Amino acid sequence: MSAIESAIPMASPYLPLFRRYLRQQGLPVTQQREVVADVVFTSSGHLSVEEIESRLKERGERIGKATIYRTMEILVRSGLVEDHDFGDGFKRYEHLFGHHPVREHLICTHCRTVTEVQDRQVERLQGELARRHGFLAARHRLEIHGLCADCQAGGVTLQYKGLTCPALDVA
Ligand SMILES: [Zn+2]
Ligand SMILES: [Zn+2]
Repeated sequence: MSAIESAIPMASPYLPLFRRYLRQQGLPVTQQREVVADVVFTSSGHLSVEEIESRLKERGERIGKATIYRTMEILVRSGLVEDHDFGDGFKRYEHLFGHHPVREHLICTHCRTVTEVQDRQVERLQGELARRHGFLAARHRLEIHGLCADCQAGGVTLQYKGLTCPALDVA
C-alpha cells in the first residue's frame, strides 16, 4: 500500500492533510485517529463528541471518548477543524473545507438552533480592522447569541443568563 492510500475505504480526500500534520508534529498516525478525522471530514454541521462517537459506532468502530477528545484537540490545532462553544455546555466541531466565504453563526439561546450566514461585509470589515492595527488577518469568527425568529414569534423573551460567559456559569 502506498503512502497515499488509506486503510479506510471511501476516505475523505482531506485525510492526507491530517496525516501530513501528524507526521510534521511527530505524532503517530494511527488508524483510530484517521477514522475519527474521516467522520468529521465527511460530515456537515456541528458535531459533538457524542455525535462523533455514534457515527463511529455506525461504522462498526468502537473508539473511546478519550481518543476522540484527543484527536479533536489535534484537529483543531492543525487548523483543519474549528471548535465552537454554542453555550450548551460542550464543544461542537466542524471541518473548515468548503467554507469560503467564511460562515458566521447566529445561535439561538432558547432552541439552540444554529444558523449559518455568509456576509461579504463582515469579511471586508475583518480586513479593514486588521489593516488599521497593522495586523495581518488569516481568519475571524463571529458568533451572535440571541433569539431566532421562530422563538420570538413563539413569545420567548431574551434572558440574560444565556448571554453571559459560559465559564462564569460554572461558578
Ligand atoms: Zn430559537
Ligand atoms: Zn458552522
